[in-house]
Amino acid sequence: MNERSTGTVEFRDRDTCLNCSSSSLTPVWTARFSDDDVQRNLGHGGYSVGVAELLGDNEFQLVRCDTCDLMFHRRVLSPEWLDVLYSDWIDRNQIEHFHAGVGPRTHMHDFEQGRQCVKHALRFDTILRARLPSVERYNLLDFGCGDGEFAALLGQLGFRSYGIDVGAARAERSGERGVTIFRSLGEFRQADIGELHVITLFQNLEHLDDPRRVLDDLVDCLTPGGLVVVEVPDCSGITGRPGTLLDFHKVHPLEHINNFTPGTLTAFCEGSGLTRITRIPAHVTTSIRDLVRTEATRVVKPQVTNQYFLKS
Ligand SMILES: [Zn+2]
Repeated sequence: MNERSTGTVEFRDRDTCLNCSSSSLTPVWTARFSDDDVQRNLGHGGYSVGVAELLGDNEFQLVRCDTCDLMFHRRVLSPEWLDVLYSDWIDRNQIEHFHAGVGPRTHMHDFEQGRQCVKHALRFDTILRARLPSVERYNLLDFGCGDGEFAALLGQLGFRSYGIDVGAARAERSGERGVTIFRSLGEFRQADIGELHVITLFQNLEHLDDPRRVLDDLVDCLTPGGLVVVEVPDCSGITGRPGTLLDFHKVHPLEHINNFTPGTLTAFCEGSGLTRITRIPAHVTTSIRDLVRTEATRVVKPQVTNQYFLKS
């Protein structure tokens, strides 16, 4: 265990909007880590050390920007303590505990996850062939690659796959899958892998202390015509203290510190110079009903927080 894990937890205030820099912010939910409902819900995370004790009765506050509507936590762990969170509080035991908490991994779960990954690969292939037809092999970076499952599968489908993950335990698990994992964007840049054609951020942007800087830096690494895919929890409808575990998880005061809706996600990514494109339907199914339902999204475009962007 890192010795910082037992010191006094430090926080940092983000007093201007992460998207538009406005300082006109309206509180949505103000609470303390010692509140009964917060302690109960944090308990479901199964952190590896006595996190509740360390957090004490510190206050946190979810706010909404009056100018652009983006929601985010104003008071978040300092960068050093976010590092402690992802390397010590969430260690291998915690990850196993978390998986155990949501039940054993079933064939259905793994199959569905794999099916969704293949659908992404089909879309990447169609979009990149049209935009960058002369490239022989596409380079993909999965930022916040977690266990490296996606990068590994895309590697099997002919992409040259890389991952970045700051979580030491998760990066170690990815290494076991034969995916090249870097601990930081700086380390990735130094490796000089050549042009980068696809960047994916699955369930990641909501965790970042400075999401604008990270997204800008990532877009900077991407070749013109390249693709960015962003997926975050949809926080639509959260207007105050979360009443369910699911809503609490979406605006989790330690981990989910940036909170998007379909509209604010698009605006945020376009603020980094990207252009949103339609997520074209992809079919990996034996069911006509699935096929028809997916095709219907060409007409009735669902408002989702799983979005595709191009760099011009
Ligand atoms: Zn704003």
